Amino acid sequence: MRIAIAAFQIESVSFLPQVADIEDFERVALRGASILEKMRGTNSAVGGFIDVLEREQAHIVPLVDASLGALGPASERAVQRYCDEIVDGLRAHDGLDGVLLFLHGASWSQGHEDPERYIIGRVREAIGPQLPLVIAFDYHGNIDADTLRGVTAAFAYQKSPHTDMAQTGIRAARCLVATVRGEIQPVWTIRRPHVVVPSIFSATSLSPLADILALARAREAASNTWLDVSEMAGFAYADAHNTGYTVIAVADGDHALAARTADDLAAALHRHRAALYRPLKVWSIEEALAHACGRPPSGKPRILLEHADRMNDSTHVLAALLARGEENVAVPFLWDPQAARLACAAGAGATIAVALGGHSSDKAGPRLQVTARVRQLGPARAHYTGPVFHGVEFEIGPSALLEIDGILVSVTSFPAFGIDDAPFRMFGLRPEDFRLVVLRSKTHFRSFYEPIADEILVVDTPDYGAADLTQFDYRRLNTAMNWPFSQDAPRS
Ligand SMILES: [Zn+2]
Repeated sequence: MRIAIAAFQIESVSFLPQVADIEDFERVALRGASILEKMRGTNSAVGGFIDVLEREQAHIVPLVDASLGALGPASERAVQRYCDEIVDGLRAHDGLDGVLLFLHGASWSQGHEDPERYIIGRVREAIGPQLPLVIAFDYHGNIDADTLRGVTAAFAYQKSPHTDMAQTGIRAARCLVATVRGEIQPVWTIRRPHVVVPSIFSATSLSPLADILALARAREAASNTWLDVSEMAGFAYADAHNTGYTVIAVADGDHALAARTADDLAAALHRHRAALYRPLKVWSIEEALAHACGRPPSGKPRILLEHADRMNDSTHVLAALLARGEENVAVPFLWDPQAARLACAAGAGATIAVALGGHSSDKAGPRLQVTARVRQLGPARAHYTGPVFHGVEFEIGPSALLEIDGILVSVTSFPAFGIDDAPFRMFGLRPEDFRLVVLRSKTHFRSFYEPIADEILVVDTPDYGAADLTQFDYRRLNTAMNWPFSQDAPRS
């Protein structure tokens, strides 16, 4: 059995000015055998593909894996380039029995608001109408029936934090293998409840979402035949006609079962739309700091979640902390290549005057003019330590730990999210040793930080990932058709 695998991934805030171009993707792109070497055994969809295919002794044809994380739009050239590369690779290999793709679902470029639809369409055209084509998506993908035209089946992560990325690749690859062998005939239904939520509230541990997902798992368990349900929260900050929640149900030959299941779960999402949009309190900076700093320390860190920051350079919370003179505070992974370069040139122990953060856009907060002591220089690469991406290496470029009036700020040259204790360990620190920790993650931090945190405060700031979606200037999403923009958005 010869199976081609490929991946293209970026989660695009379409409103952000920074565009990820080919050279950004090329920093992380893998090709051919190096995909197998680097991704085998990792908690990633591609890792899951490899796991199943090697176990089934399939011949894997690894094409390209161009996977960035959460950033701004992709350039038109980048979408074109990696789509061409996948299609050319498929055309160059005769005798393929099937294709597995991992696509984010919320990539976006100026010319393609749904690049996944474009890539899937081109792939289907290249491989002809018959060859099985199975897709794995991120849980934050924005997709609709048009995106999936021509796919044999599609699966998305069921958890956020995404602790089940490899498991999703396994679900997709098993479906493909069973289809190639003629053991199953996958059929699928997709439904869209027209509900859009900020990423911060797409965490699958939050109710009522957790209960609706449990309903999906119960329906799978109760089914006499194979049934697989993906509920995708979508990505509110990619402005596309299909932004928002999606339910995909895949079954073996049973259209009615897939349709009934997707209908019921989409109806449940629609019914709970108001609570899905606001399952937790959203704090203003002033409120959050008054609350977090006004209570005696508990011995556990309080997390100030500056969740609206999409580029890791937002200074709204840091500025307020400095103004209040707070101490024993950690601000891990602030993206600032200039500050990192300056600190590295000055060396450990030096004192530098630096303009810190706030450079990605005018929404990222003030450039802070500070005097900082360079406590330590850091490594250029690190490994994730928590359940999400465990063991996966990531690049931060030249980095340093700065101390500014009792606040420790680690600066990186490439944007990286603090989701576990990697940003602490690399400097010999522990998050538990701080009274306040400022994080910028949306959901991934929860698996590591929920057990060790005293409290997690969702702090809203006027950045590109803000919790109030009604403030964004959507051009492509039909806001009259979707919650929370319209009170009488249709059910599906
Ligand atoms: Zn995601």
